[in-house]
Amino acid sequence: MRPVDASHCLDHQLPETEASPVGLICPHCKRDLYTRTPEGPLRAFWEEQPGAYSLDGKPCWVYRLDWRDYSIRSLFPADASSECSPAYLASLAAKTAQALLRAVAPAESANATRQE
Ligand SMILES: [Zn+2]
Repeated sequence: MRPVDASHCLDHQLPETEASPVGLICPHCKRDLYTRTPEGPLRAFWEEQPGAYSLDGKPCWVYRLDWRDYSIRSLFPADASSECSPAYLASLAAKTAQALLRAVAPAESANATRQE
């Protein structure tokens, strides 16, 4: 099975090769995530329109991670999107997103429970 690491960051036009709690992202996105914690709930979803087409006309889909003040758009090659189901990747992203939020904002969630 083809690895899912063949994605490409649409914001920075770089291959997504850096490991992070939300999966492989590009070096710029990783720096941003680690230097400035994104705010708000994270939504992870596939965009409805293909971001590009392969040379043989197959759609290349865009997977998106959206915080209130930050987003990451990843373009997956046509062959990767057919072998890795969007539903599986979405569930994977949701799990890793929760892990990231726990990792980067432990103080915030502790405060939230105390302020009731
Ligand atoms: Zn990026």
